Amino acid sequence: LTDDEVAAFRRDFPALAQSVNGHPLAYLDSAATSEKPVQVLDAERTYLEHQNAAVHRGAHTLAAEATELFEHARSRVARFIGALDDEVVWTSNATAAANLVAYSLGNLPAGSPLAFGSGDEIVVTELEHHANLIPWQQLAARTGATLRYIPIDDQGELRLDDLDSIVTERTRLIAVAHVSNVLGAVTPIAELVRRGRQVGALVALDACQSAPHLPLDVKALDVDFAFFSGHKMLAPTGIGVLYGRRALLDAMPPFLTGGSMITTVTMESAEFLPAPQRFEAGTQPVSQAIALAAAIDYLDAIGMPRIALHEAELGAALVAGLGAIPGIRVLGADSSAPRVGLAAFTLDGVHAHDLGQFLDDRGIAVRVGHHCAQPLHRRLGTTASTRASTYLYTTRDEIDRLFEAVEGAAAFFGAHT
Ligand code: PMP
Repeated sequence: LTDDEVAAFRRDFPALAQSVNGHPLAYLDSAATSEKPVQVLDAERTYLEHQNAAVHRGAHTLAAEATELFEHARSRVARFIGALDDEVVWTSNATAAANLVAYSLGNLPAGSPLAFGSGDEIVVTELEHHANLIPWQQLAARTGATLRYIPIDDQGELRLDDLDSIVTERTRLIAVAHVSNVLGAVTPIAELVRRGRQVGALVALDACQSAPHLPLDVKALDVDFAFFSGHKMLAPTGIGVLYGRRALLDAMPPFLTGGSMITTVTMESAEFLPAPQRFEAGTQPVSQAIALAAAIDYLDAIGMPRIALHEAELGAALVAGLGAIPGIRVLGADSSAPRVGLAAFTLDGVHAHDLGQFLDDRGIAVRVGHHCAQPLHRRLGTTASTRASTYLYTTRDEIDRLFEAVEGAAAFFGAHT
């Protein structure tokens, strides 16, 4: 992306034009949540002003229009990730999607081919966000299955040398992040899928940090499930996506039950609609889904490969620039994995929260803490880090301001400790 293009995108994002603490905002926290362009805000507002109605029910014109827009949004998401329309399930976020899969698989009657039980194993990795770890811990606890994990090395790279002894005939499911939200590194998914297929295990992909930043094709990756959150890719909060292979979704029982997901209900029992409606109990986040479709239009108009390239450049600049500052350690800096525009780092002797405060005073927004990845931080010998993350609207100038401020922080805290 050229500087002029990025400057033009920035004009679409009202939040980026603000000043914070007397400085122009440098928003380097898009991995937590992205800012939103007017095109997305307008799409949601237009819907709420003109078509707003209950989908899949009312006999009236607005209800029909709302239903059409809502289902069009589903197709738009499906096309974006290479799925079929009815393989896209709306959820409230990625966390809800992972829980949906974990609870649904856990609710299968014993003896069903997909059911989990003692002797079965679930494999995750040591770099997972808690959202792609705890639901599987809980599934294991409920069903008697065992949770195993693929360890990482000092660079945060997955240690695949023992893959064949960790993923075995007992493995029923492998759950893995496509991109780590702390390391920014792209995970070698093909290797895991290949091994998963060999042993007949399902593969669930946490695409939270990839869907917004890289081209994502669930069929090319050959995963069984994938999930992500709209709010990290220009859309509002409250909307997430679960992709599931159609045959799997059809075989899975509902997680939440209630209205909008049934065919026939008696006082004793209920029969359920096919997927995806079977998994969409209750009133859905319609305006948010429509806004997500508008966000995807925005991303596709630029082109995901071009966005990925822009962010790879910024990511490399982050690692190099931060790494050159004395006292800074970038987590996973020496990893050879391709990365997105994200770097988490520590500054010797300075707590991440103090550094975050120092940066905020200069209008620079970063995230501090464990970023919902405590095991990863523990493995890398720290409890907290400071994370800078980019998006299509991030400029080189913002990154340079970060370097300058971090250098200032090193000097300031160094002088005071
Ligand atoms: N997985 C990863 C890798 C993430 O970065 C996040 C968001 N921080 C999640 C899962 C969970 O997303 P959400 O909180 O939107 O459900």
